[in-house]
Amino acid sequence: MTCCRAAPTCLRYSNAMTSPCIDIHSHFFPTNAPNFAARFGDPSGPWVTLNDHGDGTGMMMLGDKPFRPVHSALWDAKARIKEIDANNVATQIICATPVMFAYDAPAGQAAYVASAYNDLALAMCADSSGRLKALAQVPLQDADLSCKELTRAMRAGCVGVQIGNHVGPREMDDEGIVRFLAHCAAEGAAVLVHPWDMLGGDRLKRWMSAWTVAMPAETQFGIMAMILGGAFDQLPTDLRICFAHGGGSFPYLLGRLENAWHRRDIVRGISKHPPSHYLNRFSVDSAVFDHRALRLLIDTMGADHVMVGSDAPFPLGEEHVGDLVRNQPDLADVDRARILTGNAAKFFNI
Ligand SMILES: [Zn+2]
Repeated sequence: MTCCRAAPTCLRYSNAMTSPCIDIHSHFFPTNAPNFAARFGDPSGPWVTLNDHGDGTGMMMLGDKPFRPVHSALWDAKARIKEIDANNVATQIICATPVMFAYDAPAGQAAYVASAYNDLALAMCADSSGRLKALAQVPLQDADLSCKELTRAMRAGCVGVQIGNHVGPREMDDEGIVRFLAHCAAEGAAVLVHPWDMLGGDRLKRWMSAWTVAMPAETQFGIMAMILGGAFDQLPTDLRICFAHGGGSFPYLLGRLENAWHRRDIVRGISKHPPSHYLNRFSVDSAVFDHRALRLLIDTMGADHVMVGSDAPFPLGEEHVGDLVRNQPDLADVDRARILTGNAAKFFNI
């Protein structure tokens, strides 16, 4: 049966359906992490552990509380390769699950935690025949220790670093965080900013609202701090920085922020330019799960500032990694190829 009358177009379309991609946003969690509670003599932590049920499933534990049901692709390179093969993912970049950050711990402990997890991430990559690459984590509560671990991890083989979008009340325009980002630029380390430690308190207890409401707001906070807090004005333009989940609420609400910036001086902070001026200073991933949202994202950010990001292997991630981009209507072949692979290869130098 002929699937359509325009055979050449159909062929091109079917090629897009199976095009490989680079997935820049996925997570890992090791089963063989050190016992941090015992090492630091602090059982309350709460440190994250993983109960491996031995049947390909497990439960991440935050202290003694169940945090999230998971499966072996989270910790087993072979299981992960099987998943990414099924999704035509050529290369997948793995990074910490944000509950592993330890930003609330004493900085020395967080530095130890970061170093241990970074080595375990690289060990998982070493079992993947080059298909998996790792982003480091750093003790972001301490800029000096963060710079030191970033340099060590990059030399050990990480392709960049993932950071949370804030450390308690310190947003991304914080002096220490800006200093760390300047170090990333100097080292040529790409940065992925992931929302975490969500605002909203008890109101987030229903409907996974921490993920569905507060995470996009946290990401918007991060981008706003970079703009209005003057971080982009201070940092070199060759800093490669990407915000997860399609930039959260930011792209959709840019018009609202732009209007506020022009009409109320208290919105402007110390930014030199209105928010739209800074759109070429950062990238976003494609984890928006809706073709209309992806259209807006590409129109707002430009096709050269969007990369496939799945949030795999978690349940709120893209189930068929890259298919939102592969199936996006009204997208030029050259732009689809950029978003699937080209932008990520350049951004992470892989
Ligand atoms: Zn994620």
